[in-house]
Amino acid sequence: MARYTESVCRICRREGQKLFLKGDRCYTDKCAVSRRAYAPGQHGQGRRKLSEYGTQLREKQKVRRAYGVLEGQFEHYFEMANKKEGVTGENLLTILESRLDNVVFRLGLAVSRPEARQLVSHAHFTVNGKKINIPSYLVKPGDVIAVKEKSRHSSKFEAILASTESRVVPKWLDMNRDTLEGKVIALAERDDIDMPIEEHMIVEYYSK
Ligand code: SF4
Repeated sequence: MARYTESVCRICRREGQKLFLKGDRCYTDKCAVSRRAYAPGQHGQGRRKLSEYGTQLREKQKVRRAYGVLEGQFEHYFEMANKKEGVTGENLLTILESRLDNVVFRLGLAVSRPEARQLVSHAHFTVNGKKINIPSYLVKPGDVIAVKEKSRHSSKFEAILASTESRVVPKWLDMNRDTLEGKVIALAERDDIDMPIEEHMIVEYYSK
């Protein structure tokens, strides 16, 4: 499957915002956005005024990259969101939050979304007792996500748990750090999403 090959910190710098793609480093003063708060490349420090379309495009790219979703799949999520009842932009964010890799990250079972995606692909998790290795798998209320028995006592998960000890699990999820099991209480709502996102711009981008 195609994936980004450029430095993840460059992605944050281009979007002008911390997207928390690197785990612990993102929370320190080593973060590239904290150290160099301008876009990468030769003209990165020059101020340029974006057109309306450019602003909408950047917002879409920022969200797509934060969740680690490729263009085609993001478009598919937008179509799903548009068909659902309610506010399209909010529906879109709910769908993105429901991805299994995001849920693993939110539960504190990975330090970043990219790590969560890799751990899911490497089959470290079960959903309702069944092995699932598809990062884009969409969870639903009542689903139980658990670290596979064999992986539970690995040094990898010990390190992750130490790193995510102070992570606040959102209220739509419930996490048991003793059994390494998390439950989806409800789907995420707009207020549950902490990243600054102007989802109406994404809707406007796709409505052209
Ligand atoms: Fe790099 Fe994380 Fe900072 Fe983004 S938030 S620039 S991934 S250290």
